[in-house]
Amino acid sequence: MLSGCGMKICILGGGLIGLAVALELRLAGVEVVVLDRGSVPAGWAAAGMIAPAAEGLAGGPLADLAFASRALWPAWAVRLEEFSGQGIDYTPCGALVPAVGDAIAPAEGQWWDSARMASAVPGLAPEIAGGWWLEKEACVDNRKVLTALRLAVERLGAEIWAGVTVTGPADPGLAAVATSAGPVAADAFVLAQGAWSGAWGLPVQPLKGQMLALESEPGWLGAIVFGEDIYLVPRRDGRIVLGATQETIGFTPGNTAGGMASLLAAALTLVPGLASHCILEQWWGFRPVSPDAAPLIGPGPWPNLYLATGHHRNGVLLAPVTAQLVTRALTGDEDPLLSAFSYRRFGGDPR
Ligand SMILES: Cc1cc2nc3c(=O)[nH]c(=O)nc-3n(C[C@H](O)[C@H](O)[C@H](O)COP(=O)(O)OP(=O)(O)OC[C@H]3O[C@@H](n4cnc5c(N)ncnc54)[C@H](O)[C@@H]3O)c2cc1C
Repeated sequence: MLSGCGMKICILGGGLIGLAVALELRLAGVEVVVLDRGSVPAGWAAAGMIAPAAEGLAGGPLADLAFASRALWPAWAVRLEEFSGQGIDYTPCGALVPAVGDAIAPAEGQWWDSARMASAVPGLAPEIAGGWWLEKEACVDNRKVLTALRLAVERLGAEIWAGVTVTGPADPGLAAVATSAGPVAADAFVLAQGAWSGAWGLPVQPLKGQMLALESEPGWLGAIVFGEDIYLVPRRDGRIVLGATQETIGFTPGNTAGGMASLLAAALTLVPGLASHCILEQWWGFRPVSPDAAPLIGPGPWPNLYLATGHHRNGVLLAPVTAQLVTRALTGDEDPLLSAFSYRRFGGDPR
């Protein structure tokens, strides 16, 4: 626990979570340096859903965290746009969860019959018997969020050292971290290396996700459609983002024929009307996943190391609450919510 002002905090990893924490710390008056080596962040690859109910979260600490963060998003988006001068396309679009396969009722939402579902989703498969309308869910253009975060934290006076690789502690007490630019000292460090956080001995692994985007007119799809093994997320310019595979194959790069075929087959089964839409882009990314699929947030294995990692498929959703909790922990106000997200729940000593 540290007193906020006069402290220098070094953030290891400048992806979505690291930059969100950097923003919050700058606003708390803390001196901040962000070290980032330039790997493509999951925050760039993501679909941008802010949709805990569609994700099936219900009951328990992770759901509490997720719904709390969803509630923070509208004000967080406004603030980020103000500080950066950049739009991020936060859209309270709602989500539709078609009742297919083993779909179970989400934690909230209203049942819509097949006619209402069909009127909301052009080209929806006629055999869909109905589904749930989740009006509180939202989406954002996560690539714009990353750009806005970089601009905002720099405008607020944080330093971002791009192209710098962190290799581990520089000394047993972690007075400094070893990096490709030499040792970097700070009063405390925040580990936010995403899927690469396992290098610190923590149980965080990469889970690859392949994605693609289809062309459509702006407004063609008005809401997230969250199917059994496929989701469709609208962008304001009309693009429809489809995702995502879940592959445990380390950091193997690339879009594969099998990955693309599975996404397209699932999308066209759910919404056959997409068949005539052009493919605009395909990409992939690596989610940071812990053994229980919940994040590691708060004090870490060194007294001056704080964790903000393991956000799995919910890092966009969880960015505002993570930034808030880490900042509170660092500035002396540890939230009881944090105990459920301690790295200690997995046992062992990463050091
Ligand atoms: C395909 C896909 C779809 C997703 N969709 C959604 C979604 O719709 N909604 C949602 O909430 N979440 C979604 N997610 C999850 C979300 O993107 C992640 O949980 C989140 O981006 C994790 O943020 P992060 O900052 O921890 O990691 P990242 O964004 O991956 O950033 C990690 C950063 O650390 C840096 N780094 C790594 N190692 C080092 C090192 N040794 N030295 C210096 N820098 C280093 C990297 O360069 C990178 O910039 C999705 C993820 C994927 C892959």
